[in-house]
Amino acid sequence: MTAITNLLDLEPSALTQWCNELGEKPFRARQLQRWIHQFGESEFDLMTDLAKSLREKLHGRACVSAPPIMADHLSTDGTRKWLFDVGVGDAVETVFIPEDGRGTLCVSTQAGCAVNCRFCSTGKQGFSRNLAVGEIIGQLWTAEFMLRRSQSIPAGPKGERQITNVVMMGMGEPLLNYGPTVSALRLMLDDHSYGLSRRRVTLSTSGVVPMMDKLSQDCPVALAVSLHAPNDALRDDLVPLNKKYPLAELMRACQRYLEFAPRDFITFEYCMLDGVNDSVSHARELIALVRDVPCKFNLIPFNPFPESGLKRSANPRIKAFAQVLMNAGIVTTIRKTRGDDIDAACGQLAGEIQDRTRVQERTQKLAEYQKKYGKDFGRIVEIGG
Ligand code: SAH
Ligand code: SF4
Repeated sequence: MTAITNLLDLEPSALTQWCNELGEKPFRARQLQRWIHQFGESEFDLMTDLAKSLREKLHGRACVSAPPIMADHLSTDGTRKWLFDVGVGDAVETVFIPEDGRGTLCVSTQAGCAVNCRFCSTGKQGFSRNLAVGEIIGQLWTAEFMLRRSQSIPAGPKGERQITNVVMMGMGEPLLNYGPTVSALRLMLDDHSYGLSRRRVTLSTSGVVPMMDKLSQDCPVALAVSLHAPNDALRDDLVPLNKKYPLAELMRACQRYLEFAPRDFITFEYCMLDGVNDSVSHARELIALVRDVPCKFNLIPFNPFPESGLKRSANPRIKAFAQVLMNAGIVTTIRKTRGDDIDAACGQLAGEIQDRTRVQERTQKLAEYQKKYGKDFGRIVEIGG
């Protein structure tokens, strides 16, 4: 018996190759790609202009299969979050953020993460596994066509696209799952699928220097770098990967990347942690650090979770920090918290349901959450069950 190929796992060149092995011409691969990624179709028999002979070959050899949805939450501000089941107790999340004139999807690339940043609940889960191409692009595929269906927008290239921007800022370190991430990026950019411009696709990394260089050659999309500290001593503590690729090396890698990047700046993300990295002197140190890197700053108010022992900086402190950067001529934005009522920020939910069998432990955690934040976290139990 031949193994069933999930066509969502195939980037454009791999789909052409796969069709070639079936004795089919490249234009058949493009047709198939359009049915899948522009019409959201998974039933071969509904792909009406595919030759009947090809449809027959596809049956029993191929499928179009995205990870099953475990939960789908809609926030009062329009933010929508899906939780996808990626098998054996692992779940990843995907967040859609609608804004005036655009819709951004935040996708995950790994279940868990090995980098283990101190302020990140995904990191605290540890690393479970890399997502396959189909599990990464499947998040975009599912989200785009569900969003269209919920608004009665027709599938196909003429239907108004709901997702205009993608950020690889969900769970996981994309550059430590390099091959599948790049294949998924190629599908996002290809004109026969989502046709997104490189400027509208942003990859966020904690600073895996050699892979930043590789990305600049293989698929240069917009780059965000998670900085979080202005010196090595503090960054070693917050982002342990810094011990391997310290700041001076990271800054040089950013400069090299910009020679090939679709945008002429790097976005530095900086998580604002009360009393840790948020003083005016930290901001001044940052200005010196990034002196030779054209950049913008995005300050992210820390999203707390119980085990972190860290607190979010108060708003006036964040504003003062931003002002120092802006006075030095650096464009700085403070990220708005979206989807607060559905915990749509940074790995908070998926971590909690990772092991769905540990009911007692989980129930205890829920009680802790409720006590600490006074929020209703009850649905986590519903999803897990
Ligand atoms: N691994 C990649 C991409 C995923 S994390 C990276 O680290 O860049 C996406 C962004 O969310 C990163 O900038 C990360 O530092 C930030 N982040 C993680 N946990 C957070 C938290 N609890 N509060 C605010 N931002 C957080
Ligand atoms: Fe991994 Fe990014 Fe979280 Fe760090 S911030 S642990 S790199 S997902």
